[in-house]
Amino acid sequence: MSLRSQAAPAAKTALLRLGGYAACRTLFPSRKIAILRYHAVCDPWGNPYAHPGICVSPAAFESHVRYLAGHYAVLPLPEIVDRVRGGRPLPANTVAITFDDGYADNLDAARTLHRHGLSATFYITAGCLAGGQPFWPAEIRTLLRAVPGPVLTLSTGGTPVRIPLGTPEERRTAVRTVTKLLKGNPIPVREALRDQLREAAGDVQEPEYMLRWDELAEMHALGMTIGSHTLTHPNLPNAGVEAARQELTESKARLERELGAPVTMFSYPNGGADRYMTPAIAQVVRDTGYAAATTSRNAFATPASDLYALERVQVQERLEDLIFALEIERFLLKPMARPGEVE
Ligand SMILES: [Zn+2]
Repeated sequence: MSLRSQAAPAAKTALLRLGGYAACRTLFPSRKIAILRYHAVCDPWGNPYAHPGICVSPAAFESHVRYLAGHYAVLPLPEIVDRVRGGRPLPANTVAITFDDGYADNLDAARTLHRHGLSATFYITAGCLAGGQPFWPAEIRTLLRAVPGPVLTLSTGGTPVRIPLGTPEERRTAVRTVTKLLKGNPIPVREALRDQLREAAGDVQEPEYMLRWDELAEMHALGMTIGSHTLTHPNLPNAGVEAARQELTESKARLERELGAPVTMFSYPNGGADRYMTPAIAQVVRDTGYAAATTSRNAFATPASDLYALERVQVQERLEDLIFALEIERFLLKPMARPGEVE
């Protein structure tokens, strides 16, 4: 990631415009599998539900899709998994497109992909679509905006946690602190903390930012793959094996019932620096009938990758950064550690 941000933007633009990347692709065709990891497709700075770092604007997304359709072998992830499992070859420069969470803006993204003849995998937090329980990573952003300052005190099992809210900077830090707190505890503790937060925020109107079930059906009808991202987006190792089994089983059953089709792809929630998968959790994913699972480890998958710990490439706004990752970083990023080695 650091290389991507250190390389001069102008140099990356020149490489793209002058055909440097195209030459790279022709001379050194990639045998790796670039599984791109998107979340929200919306204005990074003007939306109430997603951290700017996980947003790509609709205009940028359209440019990504147009370029990918013209220059890469974009395949549905289930087809890649089938070929890897069967020992069958993949085309050079294979790319798969994935989305985590299930934001309402993903419907337009699916329409854009369809217009360009591409398909993607959308991992849905099945208990949190419109009409379900609020999607907590987004809900806490709304609640924390409404909590009066200068300090919020939350209690976990009798231990008070003081969260300063006096300045805009403290409020930004508070989102990270509360996110970490909710991820770091079993589901009942998470819910108790969320109740305290709701009480502190008072009567807040939560905007609707998750897909509706009929919209998800439309995406499926457009040829998109629908996968599971659990029911309620817990950190699975912190939730425990039994809660994980329930999250994996019930989300799969709900999605299959709504779509009338098998759901075999899974994506581990809450990646990043925290431990979000273990060998025991990967075993639950296998046992509950999924064919493959993707992580948030920023690296390229290969035909030798563990199908239950597939690496993904985190996508950023600018097309230049995306293609820089695909053509330059692919030589540099290390394959991910095995499950359990992930810190
Ligand atoms: Zn997620």
